Amino acid sequence: MFDFWRRSSGIVFLIFITFVLWAISDAVIALTFFSVSLLLMMTLYIHHLVALDRWLRSNDLTVSSIPDAAGAWGEVFAALARFVRQHSQSQKRLSLVLERMQRATSAMPDGVVMLDEDEHIEWCNSMAEKHLGISLELDTGRQITNLVRQMQFAEHLAAKDFSRPLILKHSRHHELVLSLQLVPYGFQQKLLISRDITRFEKVETMRRDFIANISHELRTPLTVIGGFLETLSEEEQTDTAMNKQALSLMSGQAKRMQRLVEDLLTLSRLENALNLMKEKKVDVGKMLHDLAHEAESLSAGHHQIKLDLATDVQLTGSEDELRSAFTNLVTNAIRYTPDGGEIILRWAVQNGQGLFSVQDSGIGIEPEHIPRLTERFYRVDSSRSRETGGTGLGLAIVKHVLNRHQARLEVISNVDKGSRFNVWFPAKRLLLQSSVVEQMM
Ligand code: ADP
Repeated sequence: MFDFWRRSSGIVFLIFITFVLWAISDAVIALTFFSVSLLLMMTLYIHHLVALDRWLRSNDLTVSSIPDAAGAWGEVFAALARFVRQHSQSQKRLSLVLERMQRATSAMPDGVVMLDEDEHIEWCNSMAEKHLGISLELDTGRQITNLVRQMQFAEHLAAKDFSRPLILKHSRHHELVLSLQLVPYGFQQKLLISRDITRFEKVETMRRDFIANISHELRTPLTVIGGFLETLSEEEQTDTAMNKQALSLMSGQAKRMQRLVEDLLTLSRLENALNLMKEKKVDVGKMLHDLAHEAESLSAGHHQIKLDLATDVQLTGSEDELRSAFTNLVTNAIRYTPDGGEIILRWAVQNGQGLFSVQDSGIGIEPEHIPRLTERFYRVDSSRSRETGGTGLGLAIVKHVLNRHQARLEVISNVDKGSRFNVWFPAKRLLLQSSVVEQMM
């Protein structure tokens, strides 16, 4: 209220003088004085308004360029100066923080690229420039897929599954291996983080090569030893019963070592991320018929093997790898199910996902072991595993094959009641025929 009277003091004073003039002279002089004064005041107001408008439109919105005035307009301009000062201070503070952030991200050993919703480059640090061969100055606003041109990268972006990094060889410097991780943030924007894993990959390759080479080297001598041992144990003139027993034991162990070597070779092939899958259409129904026959001959009539094919949907994937994973699950079901038990192989589509499952009525698994089953050489009962010809690598192979197919393993088990190993395949791997689509609707 006080503010109102203070700001209106000029006009109040003018009215007062007008009344005094009216009183001491006449109305014409008083009203002329009032009109002239009012006109002068209006002119002054318009002058200040024009000055303010000119300042607002100018490019120099600094405190020093704010117009000068006395009275009420002076107060308005002073408040404006305060606001501009505060604004420029907070702007300075923000650009300092931004500069510090940019300096920190530039010092990072990883490359960082900020992408907008259409995968155009918004910003990148110097390490990303080095890793991906891009330039912040020249490539800002360009689509990342036009600059990182490997097919795998475009497919990875299109798949929109950023749970795992993509391992990529540099297009020009082939010795450089990168791990590219996409992290969604904000409004459909993404951070692309590149990491040089050349050294790690070298060590991994050495480890893989070592296992692959040693397994390969062991395979031939083992085959020869195994072959001779088998022949010798079948020989009629093998002297004593003890010799015969020793020979059969030796041949059993040689076979076990052969299986171990084969599994190690399979694992090292699957582990190699740069070893691309040979994908094709896989007729799961036909594969399960074959597996059921193989299971029957392995069980030798000791188990009841059932097949439940709820769909004829096909899968895209590597037939050899899938056969190897499914065989491991079926073999395990036979090995860990006592005679007289039942084993069911299923193939169905549930909630839009492909579901392959092997259910047995066997010994079951205690819950604490379930999370560790896919580790190499992890066994719940080592002696049973060995007695039944296990290598301890079967489920590790299954895990790798499923990872390569973006599939998921689920283990449901009850001790002494049985187990169910479910393999869930994502919808994008299913090849739906029109009749099946209608059934699912
Ligand atoms: P192994 O060659 O020892 O069977 P795997 O990797 O195939 O190796 O399996 C790991 C462990 O998981 C096995 O040792 C066994 O204890 C357990 N297992 C796997 N399948 C079954 C099953 N169907 N029923 C009970 N236990 C199982």
